[in-house]
Amino acid sequence: MIEQMYQSLGISREVYEYGEQVLADLRERFAGIDRTAEYNQLKVISAMQKSRVSEACLLGTTGYGYNDLGRDTLEQVYASLFHTETALVRPQITCGTHALALALMSNLRPGDELLSPVGKPYDTLEEVIGIRPSRGSLKEYGISYRQVDLKEDGSFDWEAIRAAVGPRTRLATIQRSKGYQTRPTFSVEQIGELIAFLKGIKPDLICMVDNCYGEFTQTIEPTDVGADMCVGSLIKNPGGGLAPIGGYIAGTTECVENAACRLTSPGLGREVGASLNALPAFYQGLFLAPTVTAGALKGAIFAANLYERLGFFVVPSGAAPRYDIIQAIQFNSPEGLCAFCEGIQYAAPVDSFVTPEPWDMPGYDSQVIMAAGAFVSGSSIELSADGPLRPPYAAYFQGGLTWQHAKFGILKSLQQCVDKGVVGLSKADGQA
Ligand SMILES: *Cc1c(COP(=O)(O)O)cnc(C)c1O
Repeated sequence: MIEQMYQSLGISREVYEYGEQVLADLRERFAGIDRTAEYNQLKVISAMQKSRVSEACLLGTTGYGYNDLGRDTLEQVYASLFHTETALVRPQITCGTHALALALMSNLRPGDELLSPVGKPYDTLEEVIGIRPSRGSLKEYGISYRQVDLKEDGSFDWEAIRAAVGPRTRLATIQRSKGYQTRPTFSVEQIGELIAFLKGIKPDLICMVDNCYGEFTQTIEPTDVGADMCVGSLIKNPGGGLAPIGGYIAGTTECVENAACRLTSPGLGREVGASLNALPAFYQGLFLAPTVTAGALKGAIFAANLYERLGFFVVPSGAAPRYDIIQAIQFNSPEGLCAFCEGIQYAAPVDSFVTPEPWDMPGYDSQVIMAAGAFVSGSSIELSADGPLRPPYAAYFQGGLTWQHAKFGILKSLQQCVDKGVVGLSKADGQA
């Protein structure tokens, strides 16, 4: 029955059977992911119960948003989940970059230095920091930046980090996910080691973690291992696919109050900021986030193993442990990259009938192809893929609101690769 359904959606018998073969070896890993999701589901419910979430919390406010019960309670829920003193969770935080910029700009002062002990930060932060000259950057405000690259093998360069911490170093920014780089993603335990090392050198150094794509992939979060702030986007993991906008900062009262006063205004801080109609999606999305993240993780692992067996270089490898939901697959040809993205698009619930085309995206030096048929525009917790049209023609793949959709998307991508002659399934028996 299921196979017939797949066939009616354009998946050939050979692609389906190959997928099933790959899946047969992944049962134990998937069971581990389900256990993490189960734990995190309980963690979310517990936080909601402790914070006494009530029906009234789902109503929004307008105007100034004074005494917004739902907003204030949701922030308590986040604080409880992240085991922090407080949190700021707002639709007025427009995206992940904004949340990170807010956390940085509000906690640094002229003359301070920002340190990244984990190499180059996410692309969009280059302009926030002023690594690439930009209007309103930290650099324009007299805040300097220092970076310590990771060692060749992706590990922390302890000695160089020690040497980089000086009297002006005020804040360390630690990106958990590799983002679109090829370095490893850090586990929360590794981040804990790094924070302990940094605080050992300078106890009052603020440690901020860019938590994008990492939430709920483990049972602990960076704030459980000493981070002063965890920062992320609600159109990634913690929004559970339902949040239509938003970002969060969970952390110490000192750090989060600074951010609130920067987001709105000194003197007003967190007291203003109407939640409008956003709260039901924020609560329900958070409630679903552990299982949605689990589905996306399974999709990433399935894709890695499926393409790895066909001889493609994948990052992380099929067997590697996972601390974020991003999967890179190197196609080595524009045809392969495009076929992959086409397949993801054709599997979407929205805009499945369009064919993605490479385009000249602002800020990139080569064309980029993107596949997304999402309910929330640009949401990357929904099944999506993209990649720049330049060697090694890597596709970056992430998301899937359900494991079943992720699986279908990946099979569809493989089907498209087979149909376009990019992949021959005869190779697909583990010896490729
Ligand atoms: C997505 C992401 C960001 C930026 O978030 P946007 O919502 O795209 O602005 C920052 N850091 C990392 C690691 C990310 O994955």
